[in-house]
Order: sequence, then structure tokens, then C-alpha cells
Amino acid sequence: MKKPKVGIFDFACCEGCQLQIANMGEDVLSVLGSIDVLEWREVMSEKWGKKLDIAIIEGSITDPHAVKRIKQIRKKAKILIAIGSCATIGGVNGMKNNFGLDDIRKYVYGDSYRFFPTELTKAVHQVVKVDYFVHGCPMYIPEFVALIKAALQGIPYYPPDYPVCVECKLNENVCMYDRQVTCLGPVTRAGCNSWCINNGNICYGCRGMVSNPNEKGAQDVLAKYNIPMELILNKMNMYNKCRELT
Ligand code: SF4
Ligand code: SF4
Ligand code: SF4
Repeated sequence: MKKPKVGIFDFACCEGCQLQIANMGEDVLSVLGSIDVLEWREVMSEKWGKKLDIAIIEGSITDPHAVKRIKQIRKKAKILIAIGSCATIGGVNGMKNNFGLDDIRKYVYGDSYRFFPTELTKAVHQVVKVDYFVHGCPMYIPEFVALIKAALQGIPYYPPDYPVCVECKLNENVCMYDRQVTCLGPVTRAGCNSWCINNGNICYGCRGMVSNPNEKGAQDVLAKYNIPMELILNKMNMYNKCRELT
């Protein structure tokens, strides 16, 4: 049977999610054995004109060239998968949207700033249709493997839409709030098996917010521990700034 042709493309990002693919160990064989991964620098060439079965996209859309490129890729790909927070929710690149775009350009490029057009940072689905989302910074490999298998079979994959707290409780962690530390688990989409809290850290909200956050419950927690809402909103800003664009 002919293997599906897959291209991997990066936009504004640290390439840490692609590194996760390289670090997959045995799982990489089960996935790569089922697909034909085209050499991605070749695929990125503007002259490349073939159709793709699957395009895997890492990174946010941050300038006019990126907008044009992602639209070209979308036209060529039957299925488009966004991997990692930069692609699925805008991620850390969204912090750019806190500032004036000209101020940002001057800060980065100095006097040459006019030669470097930019745009508000967007997640991929805010520019083109996305078929599958693998959330997280970096993406969570067990979820990537499950999703790729679903995509290859042509069936949907739905990431969990309940908070990280659910997984955290199942993992029997002591709640960070009981340690006088704030955590974004109550409003953040699960699916990472409470990765950070299991390892002694807090949840920073890298998987984006649940679609229907329990605002009253979150407010009660803040009131109980006397934590100002602004502190939580500032923390949300780190990964979830692009949410304001939708
Ligand atoms: S989601 Fe995180 S790890 Fe992945 S490319 Fe973006 S910044 Fe890097
Ligand atoms: S707030 Fe954080 S530490 Fe507490 S249960 Fe939720 S995810 Fe776990
Ligand atoms: S615990 Fe929170 S910050 Fe850590 S991977 Fe999960 S969603 Fe992301």
C-alpha cells in the first residue's frame, strides 16, 4: 500500500516540538514506518508543487510572508495538523501582541525596521483551517502518536476538554495552591497527564483554556487563597494572548 506523503513545516517557533519527534524513541518507528516523510527543507522550497497527504505545522503565523506560505501549504495538503502551542494557540509568540507592532520592529531591527514587515501573532487556525491539534509546549508525545494514528485512519481526534486538575488529582499530586503557589490547571485543557505538576512545577497554561472554564470555581479558589485576579491574568498572558483575536 502506498504510504501517505507527509511534510513538516516550521514557522515562528523554537523547533522544540520537532525535537520531540526526534526524541520519540521506539514510538518514532511505529509512526515513521507508516508514512513517507519528505525532506522538509525541500518541501519548504517555494517552487515545490506536489500535493501532500498530511502537512504538519509547527510555529505561529507572525508576518505577511508566513500568511502567504501557510495558505499555499493548506492548498497542497489534504490534512493539516498543528503541533505545539505556537501553532495551536499562538503560544509564547503571542506576547508580541502586548506591544505596538512598530515598537516591536524598532526594538528588534533598529533603523532597518521598515524592511521587516510584521503582523499580530496568530495561531495557525486563525489563518487557515486546521484538521488536528496537538497542544502543549512542547507537544506531548503520547498525544502526538495517538493523533497521527487517528489521522492516518481518517478518524477524528478530540483533545480532552476538561481541566488539568482532573489529571492532577488522578496522579495524587498535592495541589500547588495548598503550597501557596498559583497554578493555571483549573482553566487549562488537560491531555498532558499533568506533566509539569507531576515534576514539581506549576501549570503555565500551555495547552490553552478549556472551552467552558469554571470561572466561579476559579474565582472561589483565588478568594480562598487571597490571590489577585491580575496575577492569574498575567500568567495567562504567557501562552494565551492570541485567544483575544478569536
Ligand atoms: S510550542 Fe514550545 S517547544 Fe514547541 S516550538 Fe513552540 S516554543 Fe518551541
Ligand atoms: S490547581 Fe494545579 S496543582 Fe492544584 S489540582 Fe489543579 S493542576 Fe493540580
Ligand atoms: S501541566 Fe500545564 S503547562 Fe504543563 S504541559 Fe500540561 S498544560 Fe502545559
